[in-house]
Amino acid sequence: VSAPDVAVIGAGIVGSALAAFLAEAGLRVRVYEREGVAALASGRNSGALQHPMDEAQVPLHTRSLELYAELGHGFELPEPAGVIVLSPHPELLAGPAAEIAARFPELAPERLSGAELTALEPGLAPDLHAYRLETGRPVPPASAARAFAARAQEAGAEFAIGEPATAEVAAGRATGVRVAGRSEPAGAVAVAAGWLTPEALGARAPIVALWGVIVELQLAHPPRHVLEQTGVEDLTGEVESVFSIVTAGGTSAVGSTFLLERPNPDALAPLLLERGARFLPALSQARPLGARACPRPLSLDGRPLLGPIADGLFVASGHGPWGVSNGPGSARLVADAVLGRDEIPPELAAARFA
Ligand SMILES: Cc1cc2nc3c(=O)[nH]c(=O)nc-3n(C[C@H](O)[C@H](O)[C@H](O)COP(=O)(O)OP(=O)(O)OC[C@H]3O[C@@H](n4cnc5c(N)ncnc54)[C@H](O)[C@@H]3O)c2cc1C
Repeated sequence: VSAPDVAVIGAGIVGSALAAFLAEAGLRVRVYEREGVAALASGRNSGALQHPMDEAQVPLHTRSLELYAELGHGFELPEPAGVIVLSPHPELLAGPAAEIAARFPELAPERLSGAELTALEPGLAPDLHAYRLETGRPVPPASAARAFAARAQEAGAEFAIGEPATAEVAAGRATGVRVAGRSEPAGAVAVAAGWLTPEALGARAPIVALWGVIVELQLAHPPRHVLEQTGVEDLTGEVESVFSIVTAGGTSAVGSTFLLERPNPDALAPLLLERGARFLPALSQARPLGARACPRPLSLDGRPLLGPIADGLFVASGHGPWGVSNGPGSARLVADAVLGRDEIPPELAAARFA
């Protein structure tokens, strides 16, 4: 078998989209995936395509929405359902809503409470306050990564699934990957291994695991919007968690924790539902279908790490809580860098931590 032009390590949303773009540009691409397409965060997220509220990442999100609109392969881009940010304390909402209006007017924050709020979302507790943002498109969690993987295969990318791979570098140049005890050469290597990126690089990289627990359930009357608790209240409690709920395809994902240690999802599920019931009382009666824990690949400054870090060695990781929302736009940038067509903006370049 001849060596590929590019070896991609990881078949989450980022690696799958990258493989599709490179194969469609005519390169021979082999994807190395240790477990399966969308096996980690890209299949275990909450499923909201959301505005990143960070100027540096807005172009990634805008590009991602364009790429999703033309993706096909079973993926449909919904219109924004709206995100409703909630608190029992109106004074906690005024500042953030004003700041969002000034920085991101496209989100059109609208303050809501009382009958106006319960008219929009009848299941909410009656004493809450909120603002609504024009973003939040619910999609089934694994659908985006699967569609990009199908598109990559259609364009000729090969997928080698079942063994972890590590980038091989000699004299400052990527030579291929080490997999199942063998060296397999490649013209270039792109590492999109999520929170395991440091391991797949065989080197230190500024990415940590931020563990999220999600409880899946079906409600008779699920909320139409994405609902979120304002982020400042509960991150001081014994377990760092903020209530959110996203419903796609009839299943609701109730979240979530933000933990640096691997949690036990079954032990935390009752706590997440109890905290959620403060906002959406129906959650106190709901019977969970299951609970799962998965790490978000978080970079040290919260922005993705994109582009070259050595000759022929590229990284695309570190999307933290918003990799489904922004990952395809990142993959497009890194594909253009591999193809020598474009440079990565300095605030997103992986080399900024060198
Ligand atoms: C609980 C939770 C809720 C979330 N909610 C949202 C949300 O609502 N909206 C949103 O936009 N984002 C959300 N995210 C974040 C989003 O899921 C991630 O940012 C995104 O999926 C990361 O994609 P990735 O391709 O970089 O990594 P991953 O999806 O982690 O993919 C990496 C892949 O690489 C493979 N791999 C790792 N090491 C190796 C190796 N050595 N060799 C071969 N293969 C390897 C893994 O098996 C995996 O398949 C959420 C995340 C979590 C955990």
